[in-house]
Amino acid sequence: MTALPFGATLGIVGGGQLGRMSAMAAARLGFRVHVLTPDIDSPACEVASSATIGDYDDEVALRDFAEHVDVVTFEFENVSAHGLRILESIKPVRPAGAVLEISQDRIAEKRRLSEIGAALAPWREVPDAAALAAAAEALDYRLILKTTRFGYDGKGQFRIRDAEEFAALGTDLPYPLVAEGIVDFEREISVMVARGLDGDVRCFDVTENRHRNGILDLSLAPAPIPPALAAQAQSMARHIAESLDLIGIMGVEMFVDARGGLLINEIAPRPHNSGHWTMNACLVDQFEMHVRAVLGLPLPEATRHSDAVMKNLIGPDDMALCDAALRMPGLALHLYGKDEARPGRKMGHVNAIFPRGALPGPFGIAAVLGPLVEPVVSEDI
Ligand code: AMP
Repeated sequence: MTALPFGATLGIVGGGQLGRMSAMAAARLGFRVHVLTPDIDSPACEVASSATIGDYDDEVALRDFAEHVDVVTFEFENVSAHGLRILESIKPVRPAGAVLEISQDRIAEKRRLSEIGAALAPWREVPDAAALAAAAEALDYRLILKTTRFGYDGKGQFRIRDAEEFAALGTDLPYPLVAEGIVDFEREISVMVARGLDGDVRCFDVTENRHRNGILDLSLAPAPIPPALAAQAQSMARHIAESLDLIGIMGVEMFVDARGGLLINEIAPRPHNSGHWTMNACLVDQFEMHVRAVLGLPLPEATRHSDAVMKNLIGPDDMALCDAALRMPGLALHLYGKDEARPGRKMGHVNAIFPRGALPGPFGIAAVLGPLVEPVVSEDI
């Protein structure tokens, strides 16, 4: 198991912003990047050395892509099992296809996480209407139904708060589903954990995540939680990474419940939106950490030199604030080069940086982020 030489080619499946920022990190280290994407105008293509343009389930495209690279990684997780086997038959794939297959399917993910001792919200498999009725009763009619595959940013989810809402649910549901009990969480947190080829593990500091309309809006680093809880979250993330034999980086999303306990929500074996703050608050960010792991390079400490608030720029309203963001002190602006700012589309983010230990409260954050956060910060933090 040796590191790839400088100048080797990293293959990234997926053309989105996570691929773009991974490609930029790889280029900074002197590697070439070849992207697989259906769309030549994608954010990652604009910064990669070369690309295969084709669908993720197109066997010819997958083979062409794998022939052009030295190692394969992902920013897009939903490659079919067959596609993953093709890639693995041609080049090393990191993280392994088996890890992706777990994260692609909420049932497989929950089973595996339970097996390795992770605490989860109560859940039931819901293959059909009869199972749904039983699950709703067992969960006391307070549940979230989630599609088992292809859900992201709260898409493919239906929330039921009582028996009346359950009764009003139509019959035309996209089974199979997973039913989860609604967690009355105190806050949502995540840990970015990376594991290298040699088994070294690095955890970035725990992040608190705040969502708006089901989409990540703000991340605060470090999360304002007791040190013992932060250590527990990091140790759980490490345990999951080691149990899955992860190579690369993974986001582990968790709930802090009303009693201060940790429940795992989901895992994403790739760079993650909740790790974007590391780009300006750490010497080596989540993207370089991921690229290093995948290329077999040593992993540096995941040290945070500053505190940070990350604010996503979503849709046309946030894009209209970019000019203002460029003029605001203490902010780093990151845009993904997407031409059309559709509502709900992640267009970029800003990182506001503070001295270590000086993450401000709501009013301080509002003062620094100004028009970018009103009125969310004053209401919600
Ligand atoms: P997910 O796609 O599973 O990450 O869910 C998106 C968001 O929905 C999460 O970040 C939470 O804010 C919320 N959510 C998901 N599952 C639950 C749950 N079991 N209880 C309460 N909120 C949840």
